[in-house]
Amino acid sequence: MERITEQQVLAALGKVMDPATGRDIVGLGMISGVVVRDGNVGFSIEVDPREGARMEPLRKEAEGKVQALPGVLSVTAVLTAHKEAPAGAAQSGQGAAPASPPRQSPGASARALVPGVRAIVAVASGKGGVGKSTTTTNLAVALARMGLKVGVLDADIYGPSQPRMLGISGRPTSPDGKTLRPMENYGLKCMSMGFLVAEDTPMIWRGPMVQSALQQMLRDVEWGELDILVVDMPPGTGDAQLSMSQQVPLSGAVIVSTPQDIALLDARKGLNMFRKVDVPVLGIVENMSMFICPNCGHESHIFSHGGAEREAERLGVEFLGGIPLDIEIRETSDSGRPVVVSNPDSPHAQAYAKMAQRVWDKVASGLEDGAQRTAPKIVMQ
Ligand code: ADP
Repeated sequence: MERITEQQVLAALGKVMDPATGRDIVGLGMISGVVVRDGNVGFSIEVDPREGARMEPLRKEAEGKVQALPGVLSVTAVLTAHKEAPAGAAQSGQGAAPASPPRQSPGASARALVPGVRAIVAVASGKGGVGKSTTTTNLAVALARMGLKVGVLDADIYGPSQPRMLGISGRPTSPDGKTLRPMENYGLKCMSMGFLVAEDTPMIWRGPMVQSALQQMLRDVEWGELDILVVDMPPGTGDAQLSMSQQVPLSGAVIVSTPQDIALLDARKGLNMFRKVDVPVLGIVENMSMFICPNCGHESHIFSHGGAEREAERLGVEFLGGIPLDIEIRETSDSGRPVVVSNPDSPHAQAYAKMAQRVWDKVASGLEDGAQRTAPKIVMQ
């Protein structure tokens, strides 16, 4: 098979004309972040956000031109908003303006772009597989059962789980061709890359493209009025996660960890990441904290007991509770019937409900104090 190169991609895109100027989109500098991997191509097209809808045919045409190249297996083009900072935005964010790109304090624009959303809370973990998505789902549903208006933004762009865990399939509709209606189930709204990209599409986007996808899911989705938007962060504490934490005006973060990763300090990395971007850590959840035998109900503390609680105390962070390793949690979570709805009276559901109440109390007291964050403080490393 022929090996496709970045130059070939750019040459093909050079034949696509911007309808506004009649000039080619490569010459206009609209193309960035070209990634070519094993015949899979990704790139972003920078457009004026006001032109978003009009640019959709251009995006399709650009994808088509690249798809027609021999050796190309898949093409993913995303429209990236090239957005000017609103007047005065650079002065918000506690006076801290980034010294290098991004051009503006991204949190400031994100805040302006999700105007009906009162609070955004991230659910994060030091590494994958600790139950971060399961916790996000159950926490969000528990918040909705408290009567709050809740949204779930699945920012785990490389491995979106929320569609499956919330039992939602299908594609979001766009009534006006510009914005997307979020999907809904269990009384909450949800947007995930999983709705927009077929499961077998390779996620080959690089950092900047992932960030633009996140921005689009915040900005171009009709979230409406929400009390709280819960963000399922990508696992880990690397640059991508750090910059996401900077981009989204977070009211706080919940760290999910297992007893092992508390011991291995992964959870602490998560804490440090949020401290770096000045986002309050609302607390730590210890997931898979003990094993409950499905036959006899016996509780076994396979890993040391109470580690997370002790560690949280040592670090000055609230311990939000421990969720056992239990087959019911796995089965309900993986089949789209979170335990909070499928078995609301169970101790697990109650543990999530308690956690949700505590998270909301903390978030709401921040809102009352007028301490609502307008933009994260950017700390240059
Ligand atoms: P992450 O988002 O951290 O990668 P997930 O939430 O996707 O983790 O969980 C990984 C797997 O572990 C899933 O199959 C999920 O159903 C299961 N799981 C998560 N928490 C629990 C738990 N407390 N008990 C049993 N299985 C769990």
